[in-house]
Amino acid sequence: MSNLNPIMEIHHLVKTFGDNEVLKDVDFTANEGEVICIIGSSGSGKSTLLRCINMLETPTSGEILHRGKIVSDSTDDLNSYRSKVGMVFQSFNLFNNMTVLENCMIGVTAVLKKDRKHAREISLHYLKKVGMAAYINAKPSQISGGQKQRVAIARALAMEPEMMLFDEPTSALDPEMVGEVLSVMKNLVSEGMTMIIVTHEMAFARDVSTRVVFMDKGVIAEDGPPRQIFLNPQNPRTKEFLSRFLN
Ligand code: ADP
Ligand code: MG
Repeated sequence: MSNLNPIMEIHHLVKTFGDNEVLKDVDFTANEGEVICIIGSSGSGKSTLLRCINMLETPTSGEILHRGKIVSDSTDDLNSYRSKVGMVFQSFNLFNNMTVLENCMIGVTAVLKKDRKHAREISLHYLKKVGMAAYINAKPSQISGGQKQRVAIARALAMEPEMMLFDEPTSALDPEMVGEVLSVMKNLVSEGMTMIIVTHEMAFARDVSTRVVFMDKGVIAEDGPPRQIFLNPQNPRTKEFLSRFLN
């Protein structure tokens, strides 16, 4: 379990789009080694929270601290911060005009400024790890959704991040491909990667996470160990969501 070394802290985070207040005074901490699953209905603010954590959205107010230091919106700060926080999207977001290998190398050369030889080695290492070494010359259009998502995970890992964010990584996949992606994620968990995962895969959340966060209408309605959330929810809204969800 976690030794309570915070990697990332969020204080009083508010995010509005126009007059729609999507995140309402959210406080949240991710400690080293934690595997945090975020669950909740569509529109409750889960993606916005992840995007704020990665500074893909600018908070309306509140602050984000990385290793105790406020993350500012200066470009240098942002590039360095983002390279430490890997992100995997529902829709893969691969570059369709590049090969699998080039997709993995591009961040390593462009953001981390490593030479191509190093970028190639590290990309091959992580592509092997997700079982995609045989596809390095393929274009995204030539591989399946599950394979694309494994490449997207390898691409994020090639940056050697200190934590990984996943936004519904299996929601766009055909059912038969969900397992191969969850299995790659389980391997990361077993290696001790700190992870925040927005997911509707309740069995995965129950079995793999150290903490589950239930979001409801822009607030964290409950935050606790999976045993509590799934067997003994303290908030009636958690109970209601899970019973609705499981039906
Ligand atoms: P979830 O991931 O839990 O389904 P989101 O964070 O995507 O929820 O969305 C929460 C709310 O924020 C929704 O009402 C959505 O329409 C709104 N929203 C999200 N992104 C934007 C945006 N870029 N512009 C305007 N509204 C947005
Ligand atoms: Mg979402």
